[in-house]
Amino acid sequence: MSAFSRIALKSSARGFKAFVLAVCLVIVSLEGWRDWSGRDQEIARINTETLNLAKSLTQHAQDSLEVADTLLVDVVDRIETGGGGPNAISRLDAFLVARVQSLQRIKSLTIYGEDGLLLSSSLPGHRGKIDARDQPFFQYHGAISKADWYLGPLIHDPLGGEWVVTLSRRINKPDGSFGGVAQVSIPPRYFANFFGRFDVGAQGILALFHTNGTLLSRYPYLERAIGALAVNEPWFREGKASGVYEYTSPLDGVTRIGGYQRNHIFPVGVLAAVGRDEALARWNNMFAFRIVVIGLLVTMIATLGWRFAGELRRRETAEAELAVLARTDDLTSLANRRTLDEQLEIEWLRAAREKAPVSLLMIDVDRFKAYNDTYGHQAGDKCLQIIASTIASSARRPSDLAARYGGEELAILLPELNENDAATVAEEIRSKVEALRMLHAANLPYRILTVSIGSATRVPSLDRSRIGPKDLISLADAALYEAKQGGRNRVAVAKTA
Ligand code: GH3
Ligand code: MG
Ligand code: MG
Repeated sequence: MSAFSRIALKSSARGFKAFVLAVCLVIVSLEGWRDWSGRDQEIARINTETLNLAKSLTQHAQDSLEVADTLLVDVVDRIETGGGGPNAISRLDAFLVARVQSLQRIKSLTIYGEDGLLLSSSLPGHRGKIDARDQPFFQYHGAISKADWYLGPLIHDPLGGEWVVTLSRRINKPDGSFGGVAQVSIPPRYFANFFGRFDVGAQGILALFHTNGTLLSRYPYLERAIGALAVNEPWFREGKASGVYEYTSPLDGVTRIGGYQRNHIFPVGVLAAVGRDEALARWNNMFAFRIVVIGLLVTMIATLGWRFAGELRRRETAEAELAVLARTDDLTSLANRRTLDEQLEIEWLRAAREKAPVSLLMIDVDRFKAYNDTYGHQAGDKCLQIIASTIASSARRPSDLAARYGGEELAILLPELNENDAATVAEEIRSKVEALRMLHAANLPYRILTVSIGSATRVPSLDRSRIGPKDLISLADAALYEAKQGGRNRVAVAKTA
């Protein structure tokens, strides 16, 4: 194979495909990373929001209890200083009714005597008819002389059926002994109604807990859930004052994310939670939308990229083919004269550096004009092709180059070959053509097709003034002329300088 036919087809199409693939990969992974962290950020945002809501609702619960307690302190003070006589009690009745009417959050304010019987209440008509001896708040103050408020467990209101949260204070007699209890009832619905002003979505809940784990109130209001014990919920299990949680409700099976905040004064805490799927729905929709858009974008880039790469490959192939054509002779498929000149120049310089010889054979068909005249121009062409392939088969090393120099003159460049070896190759070509035994009646005395070959070998010098590549051609030409003169069908070697 000659160096000429080994034109490497280096493709940038493959590189471009790799680039397109890398771009798509970068887009997909950047978007994936963004979405992954975006979901966490969204959950963190919801956590902060619910915890903030829990904090304000806990503060509201504290405010409500403080209002109730202020009232209790006031009433206890009145009784302790004004006494419990019939006059004082009837004045107290009016006072209680007036105070509680203005306080929406309080259902009733009631005074019980030391015997547990109702003494006075903001809800009139119960005097002496209600006995609070068995109520937890009454028992607490009876047993403990501490003059402090007591937030009792959820009870059924002694004044009438429904659940109430109770806050109470002990009344002392002048001698400090137990004189009764002042007690405020706050209905769970009050908290539920207040909570209802906040939007927590269809799946959200706002819940007020006693720190003993009892559910005091809840929005949406659910009667059967009030009073339920929630000690197994994570915010109680962990026992922290505040935290954010994801949990699945045992009540309705909904998974929620929420914040829990305990109050630092009263033993209550609020959980504000939203349905996880509901809260993330907007984000999920955006995510699905982005996936579709990114998917389309990446598909578009990949498709266009692939098409472009295909186009690039076709163009490169076409260009490479053109380049080959530009360096090839049509008729013989050998290198053309321009290629031979270029290659000779290159090899000449290389040999000059390496101080190696360069050989060139000039091959001319004997009496070819007569061949054409006898057998026709087309037969002449065919004959040239056959001789060309014979010569090409003698260009064995990668650096050997067989070329059509012009007309019926062919050449073969043999870098690094010395004079003897070049002459051997020349002789091989000459005898191969002879062995074809193609009829050429006018080529006397042989009567078959023959070639004459001029061979020239020189060790080039970098000093062009001495000898250049063109001189090697002239030398081979001169040797060829000598071969013709010597009777044709022979090899002549140019004399060494
Ligand atoms: P000599 O042995 O001295 O070389 O005799 P010759 O007839 O070959 O002499 P010359 O080199 O002057 O003639 C070259 C001829 O080669 C002339 C032309 O008809 C023929 N020829 C040149 N190129 C082609 C070609 O491409 N095809 C054909 N069929 N003939 C060609
Ligand atoms: Mg000739
Ligand atoms: Mg000729």
